[in-house]
Amino acid sequence: MMNMNEVATKAVACPHCGENASVPLPDGETEVKVRQSIAAFGEHTTITCSRDHTYWEYFC
Ligand SMILES: [Zn+2]
Repeated sequence: MMNMNEVATKAVACPHCGENASVPLPDGETEVKVRQSIAAFGEHTTITCSRDHTYWEYFC
């Protein structure tokens, strides 16, 4: 188990332009998938890259 004070992050790339972003992970072993559209299920986070593209990160 990781130190609870430490927030795990994962580097993801914007599907539109490839810009890297660092997103928080709810736990260190969660797999992350990036999508360009929103789905009605699953836990997800909205990400906006520095070029104003919006995409969604899903935790599997
Ligand atoms: Zn982008």
